Amino acid sequence: MSVSPRPCPCGLSEPFDACCGRYLGESDTVAPTAEALMRSRYTAFARGDVEHLLRTWHPATRPTTLTLDPSIRWTHLEVLDRVGGGIFDTDGVVEFRAHHREGQQRGILHERSHFVREAGQWFYRDGAAR
Ligand SMILES: [Zn+2]
Repeated sequence: MSVSPRPCPCGLSEPFDACCGRYLGESDTVAPTAEALMRSRYTAFARGDVEHLLRTWHPATRPTTLTLDPSIRWTHLEVLDRVGGGIFDTDGVVEFRAHHREGQQRGILHERSHFVREAGQWFYRDGAAR
């Protein structure tokens, strides 16, 4: 009998533990690219990992507390564009559409997010809704 690994909520083919799971929870492994961080933050929203969201939010823009609405279910992520954000960059932009559901209501969060890297760690800085 084999147990199939949990797929990662971010939509990549790797199972959760080998994908965003590496960066969530108590992990001190940091995402190597802005896109990897963006995906891990989406996954943190999907799994209710507030700790990860706050830890990867730039101190200049980070809210003091963050409460996730448990009635919203994040169902699907599309990454539409990326500029910079690579392993040798210090800033980057990732545009995405995050699909969610609340009861029978479906919605999409479409944002162009700005990420910066300081001391080897990527942070979400801010985003513009599309
Ligand atoms: Zn993932």
